[in-house]
Amino acid sequence: MTLKIGVIGTGAIGQEHIQRLHHKLVGSTVVAVNDINKAQAEEVAKRLTPAAKVFENGHDLVADPNVDAIVVTSWGPTHEEFVLSSIAAGKPVFCEKPLATTAEACLNIVNAEIASGRQLVQVGFMRRYDKSYRLLKEQITNGNLGEPLMVHCAHRNPSVPEVYAGDMAITDSFPHEIDVLRWLLDDDYVSAQVIMPRKTKHTRKDLDDPHMILLETKKGVRIDVEVFVNCPYGYDIQCQVVGEDGIGYLPEPMSVLLRKDAKLSHEILQDWKLRFIDSYDVELQEWIESVKAGVVRGPTAWDGYFASVTADACVEAKHSGKIVPIRIGERPSFYAPTALKPAA
Ligand code: NAP
Repeated sequence: MTLKIGVIGTGAIGQEHIQRLHHKLVGSTVVAVNDINKAQAEEVAKRLTPAAKVFENGHDLVADPNVDAIVVTSWGPTHEEFVLSSIAAGKPVFCEKPLATTAEACLNIVNAEIASGRQLVQVGFMRRYDKSYRLLKEQITNGNLGEPLMVHCAHRNPSVPEVYAGDMAITDSFPHEIDVLRWLLDDDYVSAQVIMPRKTKHTRKDLDDPHMILLETKKGVRIDVEVFVNCPYGYDIQCQVVGEDGIGYLPEPMSVLLRKDAKLSHEILQDWKLRFIDSYDVELQEWIESVKAGVVRGPTAWDGYFASVTADACVEAKHSGKIVPIRIGERPSFYAPTALKPAA
């Protein structure tokens, strides 16, 4: 069976996911698209064979009987309404991060999904599908490192555009670490603190950079993450898990070691898209298969809600200078990994 997918949002990542779902991955086809920019949606729809149907609005796309499952890649503030609409229609939905732009909106989605009695929502935290993170997780899960005690991470970008402003280092870049570290450690956060080092000369006047974010987990693991988004040398994701018996390092992306001009060197990536390009393929292929199997195996709406509450605590910690508790309560049994609910 080929999964017939409707995509809401035909911007940058929407177009990339459409290419994957229609041309590259196995078992799916894009039959419908929508974007507030109708001309763009029409252009994207025309490029497909057969052409996808263009819908005037996302809710009509969700309701169309020809659409089996929905991918939401529109602007963040619209995610809540389209995910809620998909739940109401009883259709599986893959929503790019963030699940929604406020914790309250994420909780609305969690409550609607629980009330529907079926797990339908997956959030686009693609680092869980990255081969190097999966290798690191294997070392933690098989006990090779002993119990994890500390985690040291860095999230570095060579530069950011003008639209990147305010607290986006915490609300836009850092959520990837928030999700992947919870998943790596199989643990939850209990507090957050943000320390502001000296500001780099490479940032703008109105943009704080870098940030040092500290998290503490329920099991007592201490995490520090440097988020440095005007770090001229390149895009660089580091993660080091210090355990009782050993240290696990996130492998570096593969690159050729050069002996040249009296130097031994590796290239450093400049574009974040290249670092995780394969993980997007794995993420969506596994989503297609899990939808067909009638379960959600990836990051859930609860994970999306947890990321939002954690990011809010970090923003509060930054502006107050205090250690802020993260109070979210226990994960509902609905989201326990053993309690997978049929998606269709
Ligand atoms: P983008 O290029 O701005 O695309 C978003 C699209 O949504 C635009 O075409 C926008 O139209 C459209 N849109 C806005 N309101 C809409 C509505 N009510 N109905 C339908 N379409 C609407 O942004 P992007 O970079 O693709 O990002 C999209 C989402 O993916 C964001 O949530 C982003 O955080 C996430 N993302 C995730 C990753 C990842 O690594 N997982 C990477 C990139 C992006 P207009 O431009 O006309 O407003």
